[in-house]
Amino acid sequence: MANETNRFQAIISHCKEYGFIFPSSEIYDGLQAVYDYGQWGSELKKNIKDYWWNSMTRMYENIVGIDAAIFMHPTTWKASGHVDNFNDPMIDNKDSKKRYRVDHLIEGYAEMLNAEGRKQEAEQILAGMDSLLAKDDFTGLKKLIEENKIKCPISGTSNWTDIRQFNLMFSTEFGSTVSADDEDNKVYLRPETAQGIFVNFLNVQKSGRMKIPFGIAQIGKAFRNEIVARQFIFRMREFEQMEMQFFIRPGTQKDWYEYWKEERLKWHLALGIPKENYRFHDHIKLAHYADAACDIEFNFPIGFKELEGIHSRTDFDLKNHQEYSKKKMQYYDAEVDPATGKPYGNYIPYVIETSIGLDRMFLAVVSHAYTEEDLSTPEKKDDRVVLKFPPKLAPMKLAVLPLIKKDGLPEIARQIMDDCKSHFRCFYEEKDTIGKRYRRMDAIGTPFCVTVDHQTKEDNTVTIRYRDTMKQDRVPVTEIRKIVLDSL
Ligand code: ATP
Repeated sequence: MANETNRFQAIISHCKEYGFIFPSSEIYDGLQAVYDYGQWGSELKKNIKDYWWNSMTRMYENIVGIDAAIFMHPTTWKASGHVDNFNDPMIDNKDSKKRYRVDHLIEGYAEMLNAEGRKQEAEQILAGMDSLLAKDDFTGLKKLIEENKIKCPISGTSNWTDIRQFNLMFSTEFGSTVSADDEDNKVYLRPETAQGIFVNFLNVQKSGRMKIPFGIAQIGKAFRNEIVARQFIFRMREFEQMEMQFFIRPGTQKDWYEYWKEERLKWHLALGIPKENYRFHDHIKLAHYADAACDIEFNFPIGFKELEGIHSRTDFDLKNHQEYSKKKMQYYDAEVDPATGKPYGNYIPYVIETSIGLDRMFLAVVSHAYTEEDLSTPEKKDDRVVLKFPPKLAPMKLAVLPLIKKDGLPEIARQIMDDCKSHFRCFYEEKDTIGKRYRRMDAIGTPFCVTVDHQTKEDNTVTIRYRDTMKQDRVPVTEIRKIVLDSL
Protein backbone atom coordinates (compact mmCIF):
# COMPACT_ATOMS: atom_id res chain seq x y z
CA MET A 1 0.00 0.00 0.00
CA ALA A 2 1.30 3.42 -0.94
CA ASN A 3 0.41 5.14 2.28
CA GLU A 4 -1.67 4.94 5.44
CA THR A 5 -4.62 6.88 3.97
CA ASN A 6 -4.90 4.33 1.19
CA ARG A 7 -4.58 1.55 3.72
CA PHE A 8 -7.41 3.04 5.78
CA GLN A 9 -9.60 3.32 2.68
CA ALA A 10 -8.73 -0.27 1.74
CA ILE A 11 -9.78 -1.47 5.21
CA ILE A 12 -13.09 0.42 4.99
CA SER A 13 -13.83 -1.11 1.56
CA HIS A 14 -12.84 -4.56 2.75
CA CYS A 15 -15.16 -4.28 5.76
CA LYS A 16 -18.04 -3.50 3.46
CA GLU A 17 -17.25 -6.04 0.75
CA TYR A 18 -16.90 -8.92 3.21
CA GLY A 19 -19.87 -8.24 5.47
CA PHE A 20 -18.18 -6.60 8.45
CA ILE A 21 -19.53 -3.03 8.40
CA PHE A 22 -22.10 -1.22 6.25
CA PRO A 23 -23.09 2.45 6.31
CA SER A 24 -26.36 2.70 8.22
CA SER A 25 -29.52 2.81 6.06
CA GLU A 26 -27.32 2.81 3.01
CA ILE A 27 -30.22 2.56 0.53
CA TYR A 28 -31.06 6.13 1.64
CA ASP A 29 -27.41 7.18 1.21
CA GLY A 30 -26.53 6.45 4.83
CA LEU A 31 -26.59 8.50 8.00
CA GLN A 32 -23.41 10.35 8.87
CA ALA A 33 -21.23 8.61 11.44
CA VAL A 34 -23.69 5.78 12.02
CA TYR A 35 -22.82 2.25 10.93
CA ASP A 36 -24.32 -1.23 10.91
CA TYR A 37 -22.36 -4.37 11.63
CA GLY A 38 -22.87 -7.14 9.11
CA GLN A 39 -22.79 -10.90 9.46
CA TRP A 40 -19.07 -11.25 10.21
CA GLY A 41 -18.71 -7.86 11.85
CA SER A 42 -21.31 -8.68 14.46
CA GLU A 43 -19.54 -11.98 15.23
CA LEU A 44 -16.21 -10.22 15.64
CA LYS A 45 -17.81 -7.53 17.77
CA LYS A 46 -19.45 -10.12 19.99
CA ASN A 47 -16.15 -11.94 20.42
CA ILE A 48 -14.44 -8.71 21.50
CA LYS A 49 -17.28 -8.07 23.96
CA ASP A 50 -16.98 -11.58 25.37
CA TYR A 51 -13.23 -11.23 25.69
CA TRP A 52 -13.69 -8.03 27.72
CA TRP A 53 -16.70 -9.21 29.73
CA ASN A 54 -15.17 -12.56 30.62
CA SER A 55 -11.88 -11.11 31.67
CA MET A 56 -13.55 -8.40 33.75
CA THR A 57 -16.16 -10.53 35.48
CA ARG A 58 -14.32 -13.87 35.70
CA MET A 59 -10.65 -13.06 36.08
CA TYR A 60 -11.39 -10.47 38.77
CA GLU A 61 -13.52 -12.08 41.45
CA ASN A 62 -14.52 -8.71 42.88
CA ILE A 63 -16.08 -7.36 39.67
CA VAL A 64 -19.69 -7.97 38.66
CA GLY A 65 -21.56 -6.87 35.56
CA ILE A 66 -24.85 -5.03 35.05
CA ASP A 67 -26.99 -3.97 32.12
CA ALA A 68 -28.64 -0.62 32.84
CA ALA A 69 -31.19 1.18 30.65
CA ILE A 70 -30.13 3.75 28.07
CA PHE A 71 -32.77 6.22 29.29
CA MET A 72 -32.11 7.60 32.73
CA HIS A 73 -33.82 10.15 34.92
CA PRO A 74 -32.89 13.59 33.51
CA THR A 75 -31.46 14.71 36.86
CA THR A 76 -28.75 12.08 36.41
CA TRP A 77 -27.13 14.28 33.78
CA LYS A 78 -27.37 17.40 35.91
CA ALA A 79 -25.68 15.58 38.78
CA SER A 80 -23.01 14.08 36.55
CA GLY A 81 -22.14 17.49 35.16
CA HIS A 82 -22.97 16.57 31.58
CA VAL A 83 -25.70 19.20 31.16
CA ASP A 84 -23.28 21.98 32.11
CA ASN A 85 -19.91 20.58 31.12
CA PHE A 86 -20.20 18.03 28.34
CA ASN A 87 -19.13 20.56 25.78
CA ASP A 88 -16.45 20.73 23.20
CA PRO A 89 -14.93 24.01 22.01
CA MET A 90 -15.80 24.42 18.34
CA ILE A 91 -14.81 26.80 15.62
CA ASP A 92 -16.49 27.39 12.25
CA ASN A 93 -14.85 28.25 8.98
CA LYS A 94 -16.88 31.13 7.52
CA ASP A 95 -16.17 30.14 3.92
CA SER A 96 -16.82 26.40 3.95
CA LYS A 97 -19.39 26.68 6.81
CA LYS A 98 -17.71 23.59 8.29
CA ARG A 99 -17.47 23.23 12.05
CA TYR A 100 -14.41 21.77 13.75
CA ARG A 101 -13.53 20.67 17.22
CA VAL A 102 -10.70 23.01 18.11
CA ASP A 103 -8.41 20.27 19.44
CA HIS A 104 -8.96 18.16 16.31
CA LEU A 105 -8.17 21.07 14.04
CA ILE A 106 -4.93 21.85 15.84
CA GLU A 107 -3.96 18.17 16.13
CA GLY A 108 -4.53 17.74 12.39
CA TYR A 109 -2.18 20.64 11.75
CA ALA A 110 0.42 19.17 14.10
CA GLU A 111 0.18 15.82 12.29
CA MET A 112 0.88 17.59 9.03
CA LEU A 113 3.96 19.24 10.55
CA ASN A 114 5.10 15.84 11.81
CA ALA A 115 4.69 14.36 8.36
CA GLU A 116 6.90 17.17 7.03
CA GLY A 117 9.56 16.30 9.60
CA ARG A 118 8.88 19.45 11.68
CA LYS A 119 8.52 17.42 14.85
CA GLN A 120 9.67 20.06 17.31
CA GLU A 121 7.21 22.67 16.02
CA ALA A 122 4.40 20.10 16.19
CA GLU A 123 5.21 19.27 19.79
CA GLN A 124 5.37 22.95 20.71
CA ILE A 125 1.94 23.63 19.20
CA LEU A 126 0.38 20.63 20.94
CA ALA A 127 1.87 21.64 24.29
CA GLY A 128 0.54 25.18 23.76
CA MET A 129 -2.89 23.82 22.90
CA ASP A 130 -2.98 21.57 25.97
CA SER A 131 -2.20 24.40 28.33
CA LEU A 132 -4.75 26.76 26.70
CA LEU A 133 -7.44 24.04 26.78
CA ALA A 134 -6.67 23.40 30.43
CA LYS A 135 -7.44 27.08 31.14
CA ASP A 136 -10.47 27.21 28.77
CA ASP A 137 -8.63 30.10 27.15
CA PHE A 138 -10.62 30.39 23.91
CA THR A 139 -9.08 33.72 22.92
CA GLY A 140 -5.64 32.15 23.27
CA LEU A 141 -6.70 29.12 21.24
CA LYS A 142 -8.04 31.26 18.45
CA LYS A 143 -4.79 33.23 18.46
CA LEU A 144 -2.85 29.97 18.20
CA ILE A 145 -4.93 28.96 15.16
CA GLU A 146 -4.47 32.36 13.53
CA GLU A 147 -0.76 32.70 14.28
CA ASN A 148 -0.08 29.31 12.72
CA LYS A 149 -2.32 30.16 9.78
CA ILE A 150 -4.19 26.90 10.24
CA LYS A 151 -6.50 26.44 7.30
CA CYS A 152 -9.85 24.74 6.81
CA PRO A 153 -9.17 21.53 4.85
CA ILE A 154 -12.31 22.19 2.75
CA SER A 155 -12.10 25.90 1.86
CA GLY A 156 -8.36 26.26 2.31
CA THR A 157 -8.91 29.61 4.11
CA SER A 158 -8.22 30.84 7.65
CA ASN A 159 -11.47 32.79 7.91
CA TRP A 160 -12.55 31.57 11.36
CA THR A 161 -15.39 32.47 13.73
CA ASP A 162 -14.80 32.81 17.46
CA ILE A 163 -14.59 29.63 19.48
CA ARG A 164 -17.82 28.47 21.14
CA GLN A 165 -18.91 25.56 23.31
CA PHE A 166 -21.39 22.91 22.06
CA ASN A 167 -23.10 20.30 24.17
CA LEU A 168 -22.75 16.79 22.78
CA MET A 169 -25.82 15.13 24.31
CA PHE A 170 -28.79 14.00 22.21
CA SER A 171 -32.15 14.73 23.79
CA THR A 172 -35.63 13.49 23.08
CA GLU A 173 -39.20 13.55 24.40
CA PHE A 174 -40.39 11.03 26.91
CA GLY A 175 -43.99 9.81 26.87
CA SER A 176 -46.79 11.75 25.18
CA THR A 177 -47.31 14.67 27.53
CA VAL A 178 -43.83 16.13 27.50
CA SER A 179 -42.77 18.56 24.84
CA ALA A 180 -39.21 18.67 23.56
CA ASP A 181 -38.91 22.29 24.67
CA ASP A 182 -39.65 21.40 28.26
CA GLU A 183 -36.16 21.68 29.72
CA ASP A 184 -37.12 20.04 33.01
CA ASN A 185 -38.45 16.88 31.42
CA LYS A 186 -35.99 16.49 28.63
CA VAL A 187 -34.53 12.99 28.52
CA TYR A 188 -31.13 12.31 27.09
CA LEU A 189 -29.64 9.39 25.28
CA ARG A 190 -26.81 8.50 27.62
CA PRO A 191 -23.45 9.88 26.46
CA GLU A 192 -21.59 7.32 28.60
CA THR A 193 -22.59 4.07 30.29
CA ALA A 194 -20.85 4.99 33.55
CA GLN A 195 -23.82 6.80 35.12
CA GLY A 196 -25.94 3.62 34.94
CA ILE A 197 -23.31 2.08 37.19
CA PHE A 198 -23.15 4.98 39.65
CA VAL A 199 -26.90 5.17 40.19
CA ASN A 200 -26.91 1.41 40.86
CA PHE A 201 -23.88 1.47 43.13
CA LEU A 202 -25.84 0.82 46.32
CA ASN A 203 -28.24 -1.69 44.71
CA VAL A 204 -25.32 -3.83 43.59
CA GLN A 205 -23.27 -3.32 46.73
CA LYS A 206 -26.13 -4.31 49.02
CA SER A 207 -27.74 -7.10 46.95
CA GLY A 208 -24.34 -8.57 46.07
CA ARG A 209 -22.83 -8.01 49.55
CA MET A 210 -19.84 -6.45 47.79
CA LYS A 211 -16.88 -5.28 49.86
CA ILE A 212 -14.61 -2.45 48.85
CA PRO A 213 -12.55 -2.65 46.67
CA PHE A 214 -15.00 -3.92 44.06
CA GLY A 215 -15.97 -3.12 40.52
CA ILE A 216 -19.10 -2.94 38.37
CA ALA A 217 -18.74 -3.55 34.65
CA GLN A 218 -21.11 -2.74 31.84
CA ILE A 219 -21.26 -2.93 28.06
CA GLY A 220 -23.78 -0.76 26.27
CA LYS A 221 -24.65 1.86 23.73
CA ALA A 222 -23.74 5.50 24.20
CA PHE A 223 -24.68 8.48 22.04
CA ARG A 224 -22.80 11.69 21.35
CA ASN A 225 -23.70 14.37 18.87
CA GLU A 226 -20.12 14.55 17.65
CA ILE A 227 -19.68 17.66 15.57
CA VAL A 228 -16.87 16.31 13.50
CA ALA A 229 -17.89 12.72 12.99
CA ARG A 230 -15.73 11.12 10.38
CA GLN A 231 -12.95 8.57 10.33
CA PHE A 232 -15.27 5.60 9.92
CA ILE A 233 -16.11 3.81 13.19
CA PHE A 234 -13.42 5.70 15.10
CA ARG A 235 -15.85 8.50 15.91
CA MET A 236 -19.51 7.66 15.71
CA ARG A 237 -22.70 9.28 16.96
CA GLU A 238 -24.03 5.95 18.23
CA PHE A 239 -21.38 3.65 19.63
CA GLU A 240 -20.75 1.08 22.32
CA GLN A 241 -18.66 1.37 25.44
CA MET A 242 -17.22 -1.26 27.75
CA GLU A 243 -16.80 0.47 31.08
CA MET A 244 -15.81 -0.62 34.54
CA GLN A 245 -16.06 1.50 37.67
CA PHE A 246 -13.85 0.31 40.50
CA PHE A 247 -14.93 1.53 43.95
CA ILE A 248 -12.12 2.13 46.43
CA ARG A 249 -11.28 3.69 49.76
CA PRO A 250 -10.50 7.45 49.50
CA GLY A 251 -6.77 8.07 49.57
CA THR A 252 -5.91 4.84 47.72
CA GLN A 253 -6.71 6.20 44.25
CA LYS A 254 -3.12 6.75 43.11
CA ASP A 255 -2.19 3.10 43.64
CA TRP A 256 -5.38 1.76 42.05
CA TYR A 257 -5.00 4.11 39.11
CA GLU A 258 -1.53 2.71 38.43
CA TYR A 259 -2.84 -0.83 38.96
CA TRP A 260 -5.59 -0.43 36.37
CA LYS A 261 -3.27 1.22 33.85
CA GLU A 262 -1.09 -1.86 34.02
CA GLU A 263 -3.96 -4.38 34.01
CA ARG A 264 -5.63 -2.81 31.03
CA LEU A 265 -2.45 -2.73 28.98
CA LYS A 266 -1.91 -6.41 29.80
CA TRP A 267 -5.41 -7.17 28.52
CA HIS A 268 -4.57 -5.57 25.19
CA LEU A 269 -1.18 -7.25 24.91
CA ALA A 270 -2.67 -10.68 25.69
CA LEU A 271 -4.26 -10.54 22.24
CA GLY A 272 -0.80 -10.81 20.74
CA ILE A 273 -0.79 -7.36 19.12
CA PRO A 274 2.80 -6.07 19.53
CA LYS A 275 3.48 -3.58 22.29
CA GLU A 276 4.81 -0.86 19.97
CA ASN A 277 1.23 -0.32 18.76
CA TYR A 278 0.18 1.00 22.17
CA ARG A 279 1.22 3.98 24.21
CA PHE A 280 -0.04 5.92 27.21
CA HIS A 281 -0.99 9.56 26.90
CA ASP A 282 -1.44 11.46 30.16
CA HIS A 283 -4.11 14.15 30.17
CA ILE A 284 -3.11 17.66 31.08
CA LYS A 285 -6.64 19.07 30.77
CA LEU A 286 -8.70 16.89 33.08
CA ALA A 287 -12.40 16.23 32.61
CA HIS A 288 -14.68 17.87 35.15
CA TYR A 289 -14.77 14.71 37.29
CA ALA A 290 -11.14 13.52 37.28
CA ASP A 291 -8.03 13.98 39.44
CA ALA A 292 -5.84 11.94 37.06
CA ALA A 293 -6.50 10.54 33.61
CA CYS A 294 -4.71 8.93 30.72
CA ASP A 295 -5.50 7.28 27.43
CA ILE A 296 -4.23 4.05 26.03
CA GLU A 297 -3.56 5.10 22.47
CA PHE A 298 -3.40 2.68 19.58
CA ASN A 299 -1.53 3.03 16.34
CA PHE A 300 -4.56 3.20 14.01
CA PRO A 301 -4.04 3.72 10.26
CA ILE A 302 -4.93 7.37 11.06
CA GLY A 303 -2.09 7.55 13.60
CA PHE A 304 -1.85 7.07 17.36
CA LYS A 305 -5.29 7.87 18.82
CA GLU A 306 -7.28 7.18 21.98
CA LEU A 307 -8.58 3.64 22.28
CA GLU A 308 -9.31 3.51 26.01
CA GLY A 309 -9.46 5.98 28.87
CA ILE A 310 -8.41 5.33 32.45
CA HIS A 311 -9.73 7.93 34.82
CA SER A 312 -9.44 8.57 38.52
CA ARG A 313 -12.96 9.97 39.01
CA THR A 314 -12.63 10.73 42.74
CA ASP A 315 -15.99 10.70 44.57
CA PHE A 316 -17.36 13.28 42.13
CA ASP A 317 -20.21 11.21 40.70
CA LEU A 318 -21.44 9.48 43.86
CA LYS A 319 -21.20 12.69 45.86
CA ASN A 320 -23.25 14.60 43.31
CA HIS A 321 -25.84 11.84 43.03
CA GLN A 322 -26.13 11.93 46.81
CA GLU A 323 -26.65 15.68 46.71
CA TYR A 324 -29.20 15.67 43.85
CA SER A 325 -31.12 12.54 44.89
CA LYS A 326 -30.93 13.20 48.65
CA LYS A 327 -30.12 9.47 49.02
CA LYS A 328 -27.02 8.43 50.92
CA MET A 329 -24.34 6.97 48.66
CA GLN A 330 -22.16 5.85 51.53
CA TYR A 331 -20.43 2.62 52.25
CA TYR A 332 -19.62 1.30 55.72
CA ASP A 333 -16.08 -0.05 55.80
CA ALA A 334 -15.68 -2.40 58.76
CA GLU A 335 -11.98 -2.95 58.19
CA VAL A 336 -9.76 -1.55 60.92
CA ASP A 337 -7.54 1.39 60.02
CA PRO A 338 -4.09 0.52 61.46
CA ALA A 339 -3.42 4.23 62.05
CA THR A 340 -6.38 4.73 64.40
CA GLY A 341 -7.17 1.17 65.50
CA LYS A 342 -10.80 1.89 64.55
CA PRO A 343 -12.88 0.82 61.52
CA TYR A 344 -12.63 3.09 58.50
CA GLY A 345 -16.38 3.62 58.93
CA ASN A 346 -18.72 5.47 56.55
CA TYR A 347 -17.49 7.17 53.42
CA ILE A 348 -18.37 7.87 49.80
CA PRO A 349 -16.04 5.63 47.78
CA TYR A 350 -13.57 6.94 45.24
CA VAL A 351 -13.65 5.49 41.75
CA ILE A 352 -11.18 4.41 39.11
CA GLU A 353 -12.78 3.99 35.72
CA THR A 354 -11.61 2.02 32.72
CA SER A 355 -13.54 2.93 29.59
CA ILE A 356 -12.95 1.45 26.18
CA GLY A 357 -14.93 1.97 22.99
CA LEU A 358 -16.02 -1.36 21.56
CA ASP A 359 -16.11 0.04 18.03
CA ARG A 360 -12.65 1.54 18.40
CA MET A 361 -11.39 -1.80 19.67
CA PHE A 362 -13.00 -3.39 16.61
CA LEU A 363 -11.16 -0.91 14.39
CA ALA A 364 -7.88 -1.58 16.22
CA VAL A 365 -8.27 -5.35 15.79
CA VAL A 366 -9.27 -5.13 12.12
CA SER A 367 -6.62 -2.62 11.17
CA HIS A 368 -3.90 -4.67 12.81
CA ALA A 369 -5.19 -7.88 11.22
CA TYR A 370 -5.55 -6.46 7.71
CA THR A 371 -2.65 -7.69 5.59
CA GLU A 372 -2.04 -7.52 1.87
CA GLU A 373 0.37 -10.18 0.68
CA ASP A 374 2.14 -10.48 -2.63
CA LEU A 375 2.30 -14.18 -3.47
CA SER A 376 3.65 -13.79 -6.98
CA THR A 377 6.06 -16.36 -8.37
CA PRO A 378 8.19 -15.89 -11.48
CA GLU A 379 5.51 -17.82 -13.36
CA LYS A 380 2.40 -16.18 -12.00
CA LYS A 381 1.26 -12.93 -10.43
CA ASP A 382 -0.78 -13.49 -7.29
CA ASP A 383 -1.76 -11.74 -4.08
CA ARG A 384 -4.20 -12.06 -1.24
CA VAL A 385 -5.86 -10.02 1.49
CA VAL A 386 -5.91 -11.84 4.79
CA LEU A 387 -7.28 -10.76 8.16
CA LYS A 388 -4.89 -12.21 10.71
CA PHE A 389 -7.25 -12.10 13.69
CA PRO A 390 -6.25 -13.75 16.96
CA PRO A 391 -8.21 -17.06 16.66
CA LYS A 392 -10.35 -16.30 19.71
CA LEU A 393 -11.66 -13.13 18.07
CA ALA A 394 -12.06 -14.51 14.54
CA PRO A 395 -15.73 -14.44 13.44
CA MET A 396 -15.39 -17.93 12.02
CA LYS A 397 -13.00 -20.47 13.50
CA LEU A 398 -13.18 -23.32 11.01
CA ALA A 399 -14.24 -23.79 7.39
CA VAL A 400 -15.19 -27.30 6.31
CA LEU A 401 -14.78 -27.77 2.58
CA PRO A 402 -15.54 -30.93 0.61
CA LEU A 403 -13.19 -30.99 -2.40
CA ILE A 404 -16.08 -31.84 -4.74
CA LYS A 405 -19.83 -32.05 -4.37
CA LYS A 406 -20.12 -35.81 -4.85
CA ASP A 407 -18.62 -39.21 -4.02
CA GLY A 408 -19.84 -38.97 -0.41
CA LEU A 409 -17.45 -36.10 0.44
CA PRO A 410 -20.19 -33.61 1.45
CA GLU A 411 -21.60 -36.23 3.83
CA ILE A 412 -18.26 -36.62 5.62
CA ALA A 413 -17.88 -32.82 5.73
CA ARG A 414 -21.34 -32.53 7.26
CA GLN A 415 -20.33 -35.00 9.97
CA ILE A 416 -17.31 -32.83 10.81
CA MET A 417 -19.64 -29.81 10.99
CA ASP A 418 -21.92 -31.68 13.37
CA ASP A 419 -18.99 -32.63 15.55
CA CYS A 420 -17.68 -29.04 15.78
CA LYS A 421 -20.50 -26.55 15.39
CA SER A 422 -21.74 -26.65 18.96
CA HIS A 423 -18.18 -25.86 20.17
CA PHE A 424 -17.24 -22.95 17.91
CA ARG A 425 -18.44 -21.11 14.82
CA CYS A 426 -17.97 -23.20 11.66
CA PHE A 427 -18.63 -22.51 8.02
CA TYR A 428 -19.55 -25.06 5.36
CA GLU A 429 -18.95 -24.39 1.68
CA GLU A 430 -18.85 -26.62 -1.37
CA LYS A 431 -18.98 -24.08 -4.22
CA ASP A 432 -15.99 -22.96 -6.36
CA THR A 433 -12.44 -24.22 -6.52
CA ILE A 434 -10.71 -24.96 -3.27
CA GLY A 435 -8.25 -22.10 -3.92
CA LYS A 436 -11.06 -19.56 -4.23
CA ARG A 437 -12.71 -20.90 -1.09
CA TYR A 438 -9.43 -20.55 0.85
CA ARG A 439 -9.09 -16.94 -0.26
CA ARG A 440 -12.62 -16.10 0.82
CA MET A 441 -11.86 -17.56 4.24
CA ASP A 442 -8.60 -15.54 4.38
CA ALA A 443 -10.60 -12.41 3.65
CA ILE A 444 -12.83 -12.93 6.68
CA GLY A 445 -9.98 -14.17 8.85
CA THR A 446 -10.90 -17.84 9.38
CA PRO A 447 -7.82 -19.39 11.02
CA PHE A 448 -8.42 -23.01 9.91
CA CYS A 449 -9.81 -24.66 6.78
CA VAL A 450 -10.17 -28.41 6.43
CA THR A 451 -10.65 -30.06 3.06
CA VAL A 452 -12.35 -33.42 2.75
CA ASP A 453 -11.05 -35.36 -0.26
CA HIS A 454 -11.02 -38.91 -1.56
CA GLN A 455 -8.19 -39.90 0.74
CA THR A 456 -10.47 -39.01 3.68
CA LYS A 457 -12.66 -41.96 2.70
CA GLU A 458 -9.67 -44.26 2.88
CA ASP A 459 -7.81 -43.17 6.00
CA ASN A 460 -10.16 -40.74 7.77
CA THR A 461 -7.73 -37.80 7.47
CA VAL A 462 -8.25 -34.30 6.06
CA THR A 463 -6.00 -31.52 4.84
CA ILE A 464 -5.88 -28.69 7.37
CA ARG A 465 -4.74 -25.34 6.05
CA TYR A 466 -3.45 -22.63 8.36
CA ARG A 467 -4.52 -19.11 7.45
CA ASP A 468 -1.37 -17.15 8.28
CA THR A 469 1.30 -19.49 6.88
CA MET A 470 -0.94 -21.15 4.26
CA LYS A 471 0.84 -24.35 5.32
CA GLN A 472 -1.11 -27.56 4.88
CA ASP A 473 -0.97 -30.72 7.01
CA ARG A 474 -2.74 -34.01 6.98
CA VAL A 475 -4.55 -34.67 10.26
CA PRO A 476 -7.05 -37.29 11.48
CA VAL A 477 -10.68 -36.14 11.38
CA THR A 478 -10.92 -37.00 15.07
CA GLU A 479 -8.34 -34.32 15.92
CA ILE A 480 -9.89 -31.32 14.13
CA ARG A 481 -12.00 -30.20 17.06
CA LYS A 482 -9.09 -30.33 19.47
CA ILE A 483 -6.75 -28.41 17.15
CA VAL A 484 -9.23 -25.57 16.88
CA LEU A 485 -10.15 -25.55 20.58
CA ASP A 486 -6.46 -25.51 21.57
CA SER A 487 -5.96 -22.35 19.49
CA LEU A 488 -8.78 -20.58 21.33
P1 ATP B 1 -12.28 11.52 22.21
O1 ATP B 1 -11.29 12.45 22.86
O2 ATP B 1 -11.68 10.65 21.14
O3 ATP B 1 -13.55 12.19 21.79
P2 ATP B 1 -13.22 10.93 24.82
O4 ATP B 1 -12.01 11.25 25.65
O5 ATP B 1 -14.34 11.89 24.75
O6 ATP B 1 -12.76 10.49 23.33
P3 ATP B 1 -14.26 9.09 26.73
O7 ATP B 1 -15.35 9.98 27.16
O8 ATP B 1 -13.09 8.88 27.63
O9 ATP B 1 -13.77 9.50 25.27
O10 ATP B 1 -14.90 7.69 26.33
C1 ATP B 1 -14.28 6.45 26.57
C2 ATP B 1 -14.06 5.69 25.30
O11 ATP B 1 -15.24 5.64 24.50
C3 ATP B 1 -13.01 6.29 24.38
O12 ATP B 1 -11.72 5.89 24.76
C4 ATP B 1 -13.40 5.73 23.04
O13 ATP B 1 -12.83 4.44 22.85
C5 ATP B 1 -14.89 5.60 23.13
N1 ATP B 1 -15.55 6.70 22.42
C6 ATP B 1 -15.79 7.95 22.87
N2 ATP B 1 -16.44 8.68 21.95
C7 ATP B 1 -16.62 7.86 20.88
C8 ATP B 1 -17.24 8.02 19.60
N3 ATP B 1 -17.82 9.16 19.26
N4 ATP B 1 -17.25 6.96 18.75
C9 ATP B 1 -16.68 5.79 19.10
N5 ATP B 1 -16.09 5.58 20.29
C10 ATP B 1 -16.05 6.59 21.17
